[in-house]
Amino acid sequence: MTETTDLYMAFPRGFCAGVKRAISLVEKTLAEYGRPVFVHHEIVHNRHVVEKLKTQGVIFIERLDEISDLSRPLVISAHGAAAEVYADAAKLGLKLIDATCPLVEKVHRQIRKLAQQEKTIIVIGKANHPEIIGTVGQLGPDSKVFVINSETEVQNLPLEQNTKVGIVTQTTLAVDEVEKITAALKQKFTCLKDFRRSDVCYATTHRQKAVKAIAEKAEAVIVIGSKNSSNSLQLKKTALTAGALKAWLIDDASELPLADLKGIKNLGISAGASAPEHLVEQVVDTLRQYYRNLKIHDVTVAEEHIEFKS
Ligand code: SF4
Repeated sequence: MTETTDLYMAFPRGFCAGVKRAISLVEKTLAEYGRPVFVHHEIVHNRHVVEKLKTQGVIFIERLDEISDLSRPLVISAHGAAAEVYADAAKLGLKLIDATCPLVEKVHRQIRKLAQQEKTIIVIGKANHPEIIGTVGQLGPDSKVFVINSETEVQNLPLEQNTKVGIVTQTTLAVDEVEKITAALKQKFTCLKDFRRSDVCYATTHRQKAVKAIAEKAEAVIVIGSKNSSNSLQLKKTALTAGALKAWLIDDASELPLADLKGIKNLGISAGASAPEHLVEQVVDTLRQYYRNLKIHDVTVAEEHIEFKS
């Protein structure tokens, strides 16, 4: 037991509209068609969500040739998928339910538009992330596309200053990083002089803003989310950049670094866009037992009213 600790709870945190819709679509598919239901990639990047759906009859696959029964439905994850996944599913006659987040679909439409305009396309994102595989996978083999994720990579692009380029961004990156990379691109390419667009979504932006606000008050920040969740990873990084001395990304209360929390007087909590709120509640309950006097403060930076129909 230690003395009084102030606990700052970031808001918004946890599930975004795209994640809620994706999980709801899988649940509705299970209710309508029974088990098993195949899902292309983890529906959202959260271990608890994925494990729970597995027990309800979901089989997660990465390739369509893993589908053992073609009469069963296939759900595309919130991250979206390459055009060839849709084409192959149609060839196989699969019943397809598309849980791609509408904000990712918007990026898909934009990259296809840039390709139609015959632009050289620069994708700011992580090349091996499923969202970027799906976004780049909207393009035909003749498109010119470069995936970059740093200012250094901007300098190394083998393109002339007057190249007609267009940009799209992964929705879950760090807002500040994207701004820096975009500024470097604007400096390098003449046609981007007036470029303003960013595809980092509202949920990512709000959660990073909220984590910054708690990191200004707390010396340590706990982010609840899975290690393969891009936006959760960014929240941990954002907390450290914003002034927290320590930050941890944990899946649930069992991973709380209690020994390292000893003596901490101001602690912050947030959760990635794919982390269920009950995991946050369990973490807070554990902290209540650990700290003799835990004072909880809500730190709200934005209201969210966005909902996507499922
Ligand atoms: S983080 Fe943003 S883009 Fe991703 S599912 Fe949520 S709302 Fe959609």
